[in-house]
Amino acid sequence: MTLPTQYPSIASLGKALRERRISALELATDALQAARNGADPHLFLHIDDDLTRAQARAADALLERGNAGPLTGIPIAHKDLFVTRGWRTTAASRMLADYVSPFDATVVERLEQAGTVSLGKLSCDEFAMGSGNENSAFGALQNPHDPERIPGGSSGGSAAAVAAGLVLGATGTDSGGSVRQPAAYCGVSGIKPTYGTVSRHGVIAYASSLDQAGVLAHSAADLVPLLDTMSGFDERDSTSLESCDGVANAPGRIAAAHDAWRHQFSQAGRQPLAGLRIGVPQEFFGSGLAAEVADAVEAALQVFEALGALRVDISLPLTRLAIPAYYVIAPAEASSNLARFDGVHFGYRAPHYQDLADMIRRSRSEALGPEVRKRILVGTYVLSHGYYDAYYLQAQRVRRMVANDYQQALDEACDIIMGPVTPGVARRRGDHDDDPIADWLGDIYTLGANLVGLPALSIPCGRGGPAARLPIGLQIIGRHFDEGRLLALADCFQQHTDWHQYTPRQTS
Ligand code: GLN
Repeated sequence: MTLPTQYPSIASLGKALRERRISALELATDALQAARNGADPHLFLHIDDDLTRAQARAADALLERGNAGPLTGIPIAHKDLFVTRGWRTTAASRMLADYVSPFDATVVERLEQAGTVSLGKLSCDEFAMGSGNENSAFGALQNPHDPERIPGGSSGGSAAAVAAGLVLGATGTDSGGSVRQPAAYCGVSGIKPTYGTVSRHGVIAYASSLDQAGVLAHSAADLVPLLDTMSGFDERDSTSLESCDGVANAPGRIAAAHDAWRHQFSQAGRQPLAGLRIGVPQEFFGSGLAAEVADAVEAALQVFEALGALRVDISLPLTRLAIPAYYVIAPAEASSNLARFDGVHFGYRAPHYQDLADMIRRSRSEALGPEVRKRILVGTYVLSHGYYDAYYLQAQRVRRMVANDYQQALDEACDIIMGPVTPGVARRRGDHDDDPIADWLGDIYTLGANLVGLPALSIPCGRGGPAARLPIGLQIIGRHFDEGRLLALADCFQQHTDWHQYTPRQTS
């Protein structure tokens, strides 16, 4: 596969499609070919040419009739955690190796109704548990900027597919950083919206109180129509919100807020961001942060300051405790969510067993990978009689306190928070095989937004590693429901910098 030297934007490709300079079918055919001849054979877990072509033909029919929207004909792909009627859905687990869902996830349905053309299902960490895509049962993935390195996880396939130029957008899920961290490692933009704004219906559950669907693309401008289309109230998800601070949670909300902020910035002359207070948490810059990441984030902050923003030092004192809290709460929820994979209701059943209990035991031990089994054991332990108070309840208290810190900072000191996404650049594949905790520590800056349910995004802001080839991400965390402003700020940054335009081809 030839990597692109330039990424088209959704707006420019959409225009070419509407003007019929290119057809959705041509685009899809090229993309399928590139995906097949892709540098990374493990990237897609299921491709089906007929399904993709059928979507492309439907998009072409709309385009022909002049009925197209901003996403009609745009090639995308889905993390294999979103269930799809057409393509298999495996969650990158042997447990679901042959599973085909009888329905589409709400996100998949909405994107399809908007005319996107899906190339298929992208690999991820098994049941979204992991930070490097090495926990997929179907093969570890490569970072398109350096095949020796991880693309990040758990939405590593989504980030890699966008970075490689195969698709213009890819869905992901983020329970502890799984959209933002791979976006940072692969040099793409990714957003996790406020908890409850995007439906979880049809997203295979990992840790339900933390899971949130998000999306990755080349730029903030491209994220806007994608996230806007995906979001909105859904009665099939009991945690889905009907309204966001008095505004109906419906498609159009995020795009309208984004456009209003962009308009406000454009009216403000040479200091478009005047009055914006950026909170910079001192705990995000402590030991453990690579100097090159600190430098890149610092340079990005200076760009925002030059645009008129004011930088405010803030403190999120419980930052370190987010890790133990998350790694108690998430496994606890996972142990309960994954109980349904018992060889009876869903998925793999062991071929040889003695009785029902033995069948369940064997099915689960044979089909679930080591990280998933570990988390189920941890989760069962922290929920068990005698330990519940000491671990699970304690973790919930810490979660409340972390939330109070973020809330106080965003209420009193600043409008948004900025910092690094990860402590370093993408590590080498296999590097943490002997140290299971090392990856968990790498989640330190991303977990807070999930524990508190805040919207957060990652955009490229520099490069580091050997020969400065590896992308570095800037994280922007906002108040609840402030996705529109986050995207407008990211957009503003990207109009003044070109980190988001570096393709892997330029770095190789
Ligand atoms: N890296 C984190 C973990 O391993 C986050 C996963 C996620 O957001 N799904 O759990």
